Amino acid sequence: MRTIEEHAEAVAGLVARVFEGLSTETLSVDSRLLARGDSSTRRRVLAADVVAPIDLPPFDNSQMDGYAVRSRELADGPRALTIGRRIPAGVAPPPLEAGTAAPIMTGAPIPDGADAVVQIEVADPPRFLPEGEHGDVVLPHAPAGQFVRTAGSDVRRNDLLFAAGTVLGPAHWGVLASAGVAAVDVVAQPRVAVVSTGSELRVEASPASAPALRPASGQAPASAPAPASALAAAEIHDANAASLSVALTDLGARVEVFQVPDAVDALLALLVGFATADGPAFDLVVTTGGVSAGAYEVVREALEPRGIEFGSVAMQPGGPQGWGTLPVGEASLPVVCFPGNPVSALISFQAFLRVPLAAGARRALPRRDATAVLAEGADSPPGKHQLRRARLDAAGLVHFVGGPSSHLLHQYAQATVLAHIPVGVGRVEAGDEVVVWALDD
Ligand code: AMP
Ligand code: MG
Repeated sequence: MRTIEEHAEAVAGLVARVFEGLSTETLSVDSRLLARGDSSTRRRVLAADVVAPIDLPPFDNSQMDGYAVRSRELADGPRALTIGRRIPAGVAPPPLEAGTAAPIMTGAPIPDGADAVVQIEVADPPRFLPEGEHGDVVLPHAPAGQFVRTAGSDVRRNDLLFAAGTVLGPAHWGVLASAGVAAVDVVAQPRVAVVSTGSELRVEASPASAPALRPASGQAPASAPAPASALAAAEIHDANAASLSVALTDLGARVEVFQVPDAVDALLALLVGFATADGPAFDLVVTTGGVSAGAYEVVREALEPRGIEFGSVAMQPGGPQGWGTLPVGEASLPVVCFPGNPVSALISFQAFLRVPLAAGARRALPRRDATAVLAEGADSPPGKHQLRRARLDAAGLVHFVGGPSSHLLHQYAQATVLAHIPVGVGRVEAGDEVVVWALDD
């Protein structure tokens, strides 16, 4: 049996290959597209250097509401100047006439001839005259350059704006928009095929035409809602495709889901069909189900003869695991096979895929080396590393949520941490300290 760490290393190696092979794609900087909140703009990684096409700011402009002046006219201290034409933001001003001070607003261009701004608060009078009214204003000494934001003071044209590898956050997008960059090349998102196996899984009709999000009726249901579709005898709804899709897309993957019955031919046909003229349609395949000791272990039967390794990891839930690369066309496609029980599948994601995927996508993850004290005891199979669903109470004590059975996904959903009971430990008691992984995702 492999340890969790050994298997995590094997899967991390596969995932690293995924990121080495990623192509690039071009993302528009159009704010109307960014405003859609499309996850494809979240924390994307630049694939190429971006050079500034213009200066930022593009022109000298005022940092204050005040008066644009010639500083040397105020060299000898306070002096009355004739109030000139107002300069609002967005207006290209005429040159500043000698002996005048032009009311200027923040962000408005500094007129030719002016080289400083005196803020309105220190002018006499300390407020702007009504539009069209003529008069004088007494202004104090102003050094050259005062409150002038010079062209290129943030970024110079042809400067490197951002280097390849930069992770794009909100400020980066703001800079790209400010600089008038139309589009940037970013590292493509890993394309992940989630393949649920099991003849018991209800095959859901494609939602292609129905939007995932639509206005709610606003009425609280009086009783249980009608199920999405009625289950035939012995059928169950597919939990893993949903849970893994959300877990994977949260880490920046582009996911497509597939369902296959427990038929080797069907699974192989699906995977072989991933071959396209441009290589595999996916960068990673994650299967669930069909890897343990039953009579219809479709994933194992289909993939073991084709080079995918199957083995037991000393953990519970999630013991049976598969990993390797599958020849698809000319290429070899990384494949990770999780067991089908919904808790096993999701804990397998937590233990094996989450960290390497986040690392590849350059996303910081919360630290996971916390320990906490148990509020209650529990038994654990000494040969297995147990990952028990649990909640922390207000005092930080660990309470187990439900039993260790790996079909109890609803109990997983109530949990806030996974508590570790390592190999070699058959029993933990209240007061014992255990490692806990926060279920942030
Ligand atoms: P398997 O790993 O295929 O032996 O499946 C183990 C258990 O998980 C069985 O009870 C399956 O019905 C269940 N199961 C497998 N795949 C899924 C799925 N996608 N959603 C919900 N339950 C599943
Ligand atoms: Mg199965």
